[in-house]
Amino acid sequence: MGDTIFGKIIRREIPADIVYENDEILAFRDVNPQAPVHVLFIPKRPLATLNEAGPDDAGLLGRLLLACADYAKQEGFAEQGYRTVINCNEHGGQTVFHLHVHLLAGRPLHWPPG
Ligand code: 5GP
Repeated sequence: MGDTIFGKIIRREIPADIVYENDEILAFRDVNPQAPVHVLFIPKRPLATLNEAGPDDAGLLGRLLLACADYAKQEGFAEQGYRTVINCNEHGGQTVFHLHVHLLAGRPLHWPPG
């Protein structure tokens, strides 16, 4: 896959409000938040979309979700609730082609989405 803005954030070439990091995952606040809490959890290893993930990525995908839940617990909004979203390609509304999980919280979230 080609480089994206998220690759630049991983390499610290552009700034981001980073809230969590380990050897394979980075999480930072979305620049255009859709809720009081809007954090993006990304693998450092670039995968363009969920379609590119294979069996070898199952653990990584699970750990991305667990990182979201851990963050929600740590920040104290896990019990009140939150939403995780992965947008894929055009109909999913994906605009940055480096796989990411949106973590949204801090207000009631509408369902179904528009
Ligand atoms: P997508 O539409 O691909 O699911 O989500 C991409 C998200 O990345 C959007 O919510 C957008 O606001 C966010 N975003 C795009 N560029 C930047 C950036 O340079 N920094 C940060 N922190 N978020 C970004």
